[in-house]
Amino acid sequence: SIERNVDAPEDLLPRAPIVTVMGHVDHGKTSLLDNIRKENVIAGESGGITQHIGAYAVELDGGQKLAFLDTPGHEAFTAMRARGAQVTDIAIIVVAADDDIMPQTKEAISHAQAAGVPIVFAINKIDKPTANPERIKERLAQMNLLVEDWGGKIQSHDISAKTGVGVKELLEKVLLEAELLELKANPNRQADGTIVEAFLDKGRGYVSTVLVQGGTLKVGDYILAGQHSGKVKAMQDERGKNVQEAGPSTPVSVLGLDGAPQAGDKFNVFEDEREAKSIATKRTQLQREQSVRTQRH
Ligand code: GDP
Repeated sequence: SIERNVDAPEDLLPRAPIVTVMGHVDHGKTSLLDNIRKENVIAGESGGITQHIGAYAVELDGGQKLAFLDTPGHEAFTAMRARGAQVTDIAIIVVAADDDIMPQTKEAISHAQAAGVPIVFAINKIDKPTANPERIKERLAQMNLLVEDWGGKIQSHDISAKTGVGVKELLEKVLLEAELLELKANPNRQADGTIVEAFLDKGRGYVSTVLVQGGTLKVGDYILAGQHSGKVKAMQDERGKNVQEAGPSTPVSVLGLDGAPQAGDKFNVFEDEREAKSIATKRTQLQREQSVRTQRH
């Protein structure tokens, strides 16, 4: 079976939380992700995150790390969930303080709740004169979502994704929430995880961003993801830097697969290249047979 990585409790070590940003259109998801990407430069590194690889990791001043799925909106979240992938530990739901709880805000809340993922609200655009964050919190309370200021347990923070006000504090609240989850993984085994995005690059061939969830992925490993397989020729982080290894909660783009798997496909490492290839081929055949059957009906 592919689902063969079961870890003993004593092998588990703390890992960084994986965060998704959701919310209504124009409420500031992209701006928030941009702000976090720009402001949080790993200590000692010059230059910010240069590449869009579908996910990025940041380190706060205190040394704590967080991984972000760099695809705003709940489409990616639901597409991944539809493929059986559970890659989000915490959802930041952005609500514009000059607007209201909108249909996509409600959808995002339902998606997070259905997935059992804790929510941290980012009440955004507080730099605007028309912003009224308390009204948003009141509206949330009316929906039985009591934030801390209103005597509840749900974390929220007032921010401006534009000026950066409150973003650090928001991330600290995300980390607090993450601590409660006691997130752990075993870094000392062959890697597994999920495909975040994949595309064909003119110069480099197929590039797949993977999020390592367990184990450590290494250059030279044979991997299988969906209907594709291959040897990891090279890996790059979100700064375009070559890396040899990627541990749990690390997003990394991988070169060497023989095609582009779909977002949400799981990946596994195989000892034997032929085994990986033969499973990939079988999956492709199955897929073909299924589509022939669907066409007949
Ligand atoms: P998304 O659709 O949720 O990804 O929203 P965007 O990040 O694209 O933001 C929508 C619009 O709101 C853009 O014009 C942003 O510049 C603006 N915006 C986002 N955050 C803020 C903020 O904190 N303050 C102000 N004044 N404008 C913001």
